[in-house]
Amino acid sequence: MSKFYITTAIAYTNAPPHIGHALELIQADAFARCHRQKGEEVFFLTGTDEHGTKIARAARDADVAPRQFTDEISTKFRELCGILNISNDDFIRTTDRERHWPAVKLIWERLAESGDLYKKKYEGLYCAGCESFKKKSDLEDGRCSVHKIEPEKIEEENWFFKISKYKDKVKERIADGELRIVPELRKQEILNLIDDAEDVSFSRPRENLEWGIPVPNDSSQTIYVWADALTNYISALGYGQMSNIKGQMLFEKYWPADIHLIGKDILRFHALIWPAILLSAGLELPKAIYAHGFITVDGQKMSKTVGNVIDPFDLIKKYGTDAVRYFLLREIPSNEDGDFSYKNLEARYNSDLANGLGNLAARILTLAEGENLSGGQLPSHEITHKIEAAQRAVDEKIAEFKLHEALAAIWDLIGFANGYVNDKQPWKTRNKEVIFDLVVLLENIARLLAPFMSQTAEKILASTRDKNGNIRIKKGEALFPRL
Ligand SMILES: [Zn+2]
Repeated sequence: MSKFYITTAIAYTNAPPHIGHALELIQADAFARCHRQKGEEVFFLTGTDEHGTKIARAARDADVAPRQFTDEISTKFRELCGILNISNDDFIRTTDRERHWPAVKLIWERLAESGDLYKKKYEGLYCAGCESFKKKSDLEDGRCSVHKIEPEKIEEENWFFKISKYKDKVKERIADGELRIVPELRKQEILNLIDDAEDVSFSRPRENLEWGIPVPNDSSQTIYVWADALTNYISALGYGQMSNIKGQMLFEKYWPADIHLIGKDILRFHALIWPAILLSAGLELPKAIYAHGFITVDGQKMSKTVGNVIDPFDLIKKYGTDAVRYFLLREIPSNEDGDFSYKNLEARYNSDLANGLGNLAARILTLAEGENLSGGQLPSHEITHKIEAAQRAVDEKIAEFKLHEALAAIWDLIGFANGYVNDKQPWKTRNKEVIFDLVVLLENIARLLAPFMSQTAEKILASTRDKNGNIRIKKGEALFPRL
C-alpha cells in the first residue's frame, strides 16, 4: 500500500488565526482525504511555530509569559482544525520539548558534523517586524518594504549555515523536477533566486533571542527560526527520538514528504533552506512543494490597520463548516491569489449549494422516497459513463493541484443531474430505472464531494442507505437552506 505524507506550514503564534490559515488547512485536508479515499496510508501534519522575539514581545505586551501566550494561540489553531473538520493526524508545536526539541538538536549536530556551520561576526540591518536581516537592496527608501520602518543596525556573532555549498545541488533537483515546485511560475522564481543565495544566519545571541532552543554546546546562542521551525516536518515523525520506537517507524514509513503545502511568501525558505538542511544532514528531499496564493478582502490586502481581517470562527458560525470549505476551495484558485467577499460567498451559497446541490438532493430524495429500489439492478450506461468521466476529471485536477477546478468538474455532474431530472420528468412517469439512476448519481456525487465537504457527503449517504448499506431513502432536512 502506498503512503502519502502531507504537511501545512506551521502557523506563527503571534496572532490568532485568520481565513488565510483556514484556506491552507482546508486545501491540505482535501488532498489528504482524496488520498485516503484511494486507499493510501496518509499522514497529515499541521502545527504551530512558537519561538522568536516577535512572540516574546507580543507576550510582554499582553502581560503574560511567552509559554502561556503561545498555549492560548496554539489552542485556537487546534480549535480551528476542529470546526473546519480538518482530518490532521497530528499537531506539532515547536515548544514541545519532548517531541520537537530532540529533532532540532540532532539536525544541528548533523549540520555541524558535515562542517556546514561556522561562527562569524555579523553586521547587518535588522527589521524587528520581519525578525530578519535585510539587504540594502530589499529596502525601499531605507525602510522595510513590509513594515515601513527603518531597520536597526546590529552587530553580533552568529552561527552561519553554508547554503553556498548546496545551492547548485538544490537547483539541479528543482530544475529536473525531482523536487517539484507548484505552480510552474514559482519554480522559475526560485530558480532565478538560487544563484544569488548567500550563507544564512542560523543562530542569534541569547540576549537578542531568548525565546527559543539553545544551540547544542553553545548556550550563549539560540537557534534561529530555520533549523527550529522547518524541522517540525520530521520531528513530528519521531526523528531524533532514539528511544521512541513508534516515532522511528513513522519517520521511516512517511519521510520524505509527498507535499509541503505552504503560502507563497515562505516558498524561498522551503525550496532552498530546507532542502539544503536535509542534504547537509544526509536526509531525503520532499517530493513536492505547493504554494497557494493570498486572500484579499473586497480587493484589499487583509490587515489589522485596515480592520478587514476575517475571523474564520465567525464565518463558520454564520454559514456552517461545509459552506465555508466550499467557498474557499471553489472561489480562491488553488495556486493563485483570490478575493473574499460576503457578497460572493452568499451568491455562491445560494446558486451552487442551495439551488445546485441542495435542490438536486431534495428532488431526488423526494422522488425516491417510498419506492422499492433494492432490486439489485445496475445503473444505465449513460449514467455510469457520466460518473466515470467526472471521476477522471477530478483525479486529473487533483494531480495538477487545482482543487477549484476539481470542484467545478463535480458541479458539472450536478448540473447534468438536474438537467436529467428535467428531461426525464420522473415525477410524471414514475419510471423506476430513471429514479434508480438518479439515486446512483446522487450517491456518486456525495462520494466525489467527500474530500471537500465530508459532512455533506455523509448526510447525503445517510439519506439513501441504511446501516447495512441497503438502499432506503429517507428525506431529511434541506442540506443548504437558502439564505
Ligand atoms: Zn519588516
